[in-house]
Amino acid sequence: MNSTKPIGKPLDSEAVLLPEDLKKWRWAGISLAVLGSPIDHSISPAIHNAALADMSNHSPVFTDWRYFRFEIESEHLQKCLPEFAKCGFRGLNLTIPHKVEALGMIDWIDPEAAAMGAVNTLVFRENGCCAGFNTDGHGLERALAEDFGVSMDGASVVLLGAGGAARAAATRILCSGCSELWIGNRSSDRLDRLLEVLQPVNGQRLEGFDLEQVPSDLPRSSGVLVINATSLGLSAEDKSPIDLSGFADGAMACDMVYNPAETVFLRTAEKHGMRVANGLSMLVHQAARSLEIWSGEEVPVEPMFLAARQTLGDKEETG
Ligand code: NDP
Repeated sequence: MNSTKPIGKPLDSEAVLLPEDLKKWRWAGISLAVLGSPIDHSISPAIHNAALADMSNHSPVFTDWRYFRFEIESEHLQKCLPEFAKCGFRGLNLTIPHKVEALGMIDWIDPEAAAMGAVNTLVFRENGCCAGFNTDGHGLERALAEDFGVSMDGASVVLLGAGGAARAAATRILCSGCSELWIGNRSSDRLDRLLEVLQPVNGQRLEGFDLEQVPSDLPRSSGVLVINATSLGLSAEDKSPIDLSGFADGAMACDMVYNPAETVFLRTAEKHGMRVANGLSMLVHQAARSLEIWSGEEVPVEPMFLAARQTLGDKEETG
């Protein structure tokens, strides 16, 4: 019988859990979790549990759902996945370093995630199959619509970075009909690997460039969207990945980094008259999409934004 109470000592959904915690799993309801290493910075439990609390006001079935976080190292992922399924987990989010390796461990992959070459959302189906999705592209597109009121259709986009997040972004931006996509990266090998797999859908212009040698014909007019998908910015002292002085007033700068809320990239962009947004909206919308996949219900984003801001604010206060 499903209980609305955990068995035994209450489980702290904010705690950092380990694979051995699955051996004596005590949550009798539906469990969800994010797996990664390191994971102690993750605010996913706070935002998902805030949405679930709100959803349970309208639909008591969600009273029983909890979202946890697990520190899982690469070498343990394959062995752990069936354990999560056995313990009553409905699904999982994956973050660094699991998004790519997990592709070889699942039974079905959503076509967009296959094109991105990475999964961030797994679903354990009743027939025992494990299905993989990637909600990062959806999160980014919703965030850009909300923060700037722009659609990708016909957009000129400059994407900085060629790692996992840039891969998801580039796939979605091309599929959604941008007119041109320029991708800048520090290392040419990673950039080339990304350019090889990307497929323009309708003759769009796709260009790669070295971040140290920015081409003079890079689009810089107002209306151009510059997205930072490098990990520069995670540290407050990190410089901007690109010189923003040539961009016109009204061009848009979006940083996927959300902590710190204001990076040097965004501060510099603002100084040059650009419109700016950090990665918080993307984080919330990719999370909401994952929860929609697991629950089959529409997910309220307001409580997720509130919880995210509060948790990030608390982190700042405690240093
Ligand atoms: P990866 O490790 O896969 O990629 C890192 C990228 O950053 C590479 O392109 C790398 O370039 C570049 N980079 C790293 N250091 C430097 C540097 N010193 N100078 C120039 N470029 C550098 O990371 P992810 O793609 O997974 O994540 C990228 C960022 O996006 C992170 O900050 C992450 O937190 C954020 N993110 C935010 C999300 C959200 O929801 N808001 C979702 C997913 C990610 P190179 O190839 O040369 O090493």
